[in-house]
Amino acid sequence: MADGDRMDAIVVGAGPAGVTAARELAGAGLAVVVLERGPYPGAKNVWGGILYHRPTEDLLPGYADQAPLERPIIEQRYQVLTDDALLGVTYRSQRFAEPPHNAYSVLRAEFDRWHAGTAEAAGAEVYPEFTVTDLLWEDGRVVGVTTGDPEGELYANVVVLADGANSLLAQKVGLHREWAPLEQALIAKELIALPPGTIEDRFNLPTGMGSALEIFGESTWGLLGYGFIYTNKESLSVGTGALLHDLIDSGRNVNDMLDRFKRHPAIAPLLAGGETVEYSAHLIPEGGYNRMPQVYADGVVVVGDAAGFVNPLNREGVNLAMLSGKFAAQAIAEATERDDFSAASLARYRELLDESIVIQDLYKIRNVTDFAHARPHLLRDYPALASDMAREYLSVDGLSKKEKQRKMARMARGLPKGRLLRDAVGALRALT
Ligand SMILES: Cc1cc2nc3c(=O)[nH]c(=O)nc-3n(C[C@H](O)[C@H](O)[C@H](O)COP(=O)(O)OP(=O)(O)OC[C@H]3O[C@@H](n4cnc5c(N)ncnc54)[C@H](O)[C@@H]3O)c2cc1C
Repeated sequence: MADGDRMDAIVVGAGPAGVTAARELAGAGLAVVVLERGPYPGAKNVWGGILYHRPTEDLLPGYADQAPLERPIIEQRYQVLTDDALLGVTYRSQRFAEPPHNAYSVLRAEFDRWHAGTAEAAGAEVYPEFTVTDLLWEDGRVVGVTTGDPEGELYANVVVLADGANSLLAQKVGLHREWAPLEQALIAKELIALPPGTIEDRFNLPTGMGSALEIFGESTWGLLGYGFIYTNKESLSVGTGALLHDLIDSGRNVNDMLDRFKRHPAIAPLLAGGETVEYSAHLIPEGGYNRMPQVYADGVVVVGDAAGFVNPLNREGVNLAMLSGKFAAQAIAEATERDDFSAASLARYRELLDESIVIQDLYKIRNVTDFAHARPHLLRDYPALASDMAREYLSVDGLSKKEKQRKMARMARGLPKGRLLRDAVGALRALT
């Protein structure tokens, strides 16, 4: 405790970012509490996903022996759907099947609960069922939080905002405005229960191993977004979603999108007979580097999704959230040594982020969303063209191979002149 009833730090939100910050702060000997609005950490974070091993191991050595993990992911499939077809590429590696595995499927409700225990073991106090409704201020600086009544006021040298996507509290500090529909995606997700053997048969998996599928095109009505299927031990995490802007613009909603995705003739057999045991919808920050908010002010820092640290291209959110929590804790520990919690002192947090893959990766992909959003044909016309060409190539129908080649070339020429080249160059520019 810094002095009297004042904590060294209060963390709002027990997701991966907040819990990591709390564990690192407690590990540095600081007094820290985590306030979580859910009945337990993870209760509100019901979506399943992929957890990358290496960054998690770096922060929590040996975690894989203790954490509730679902299946090691040995295979990644990228697929595109048209209304009646599916094309794709698969990468499966025996190396991914052997420890140390590259990634695991996880169920966040279980993982987050276990993860919060690691912060408690380090000395942090985690309080579920506390919703922080506002921040407390003194002389223009954040000095604590309130849960809405005088008894619920808590004071600290620094407040860590780890309250997830579109943080209302960061908006109250003036660190960012409400995100625009172009800066967030909305995803609907179901957990569909199936017996382990059925999952392994349908996805051609060795016992206990898992697969991750990312599916574009008709899975989202061609909107900028994706569908996914991740295999858990006894369930599938199945979801679809798109940029909020495109959903609003097209009048589509993610519930209908998910239902349609599940009914697609190439997807339905994978899910057949499964029982939906959970449904959730959630935002993903998509603003990236170009729209990143200020992440510190007097007495406060912002971590994880609240700061927009998501790399949608590589499906990395949890690892960036955890890393940002670690850097926030380091900056707060240094500020505590200086006894200076001003914005200038906490700017160290941004320095640490800048030196890390958090900012470096987000900078690298900073133009990808804008690039793809400006080209709505990418997820509509190209899948259709690729499917038509593949069908032509694979159909044995009396046409000579030469005639087939000509027919396929004519299909490609049906695109607006120069579009393919412009898109290829644009994609290269956005990615390099
Ligand atoms: C459908 C979907 C699939 C995803 N798949 C992946 C994936 O496969 N791999 C990956 O790495 N990332 C994935 N992500 C992104 C990833 O989930 C996030 O980047 C990550 O959870 C961010 O962690 P966080 O701690 O910042 O926020 P969160 O995990 O959102 O945690 C925020 C916490 O704060 C609590 N909270 C909010 N407001 C308050 C308040 N006022 N008072 C108290 N508590 C509060 C919430 O209850 C929650 O527990 C996915 C996201 C979605 C939506």
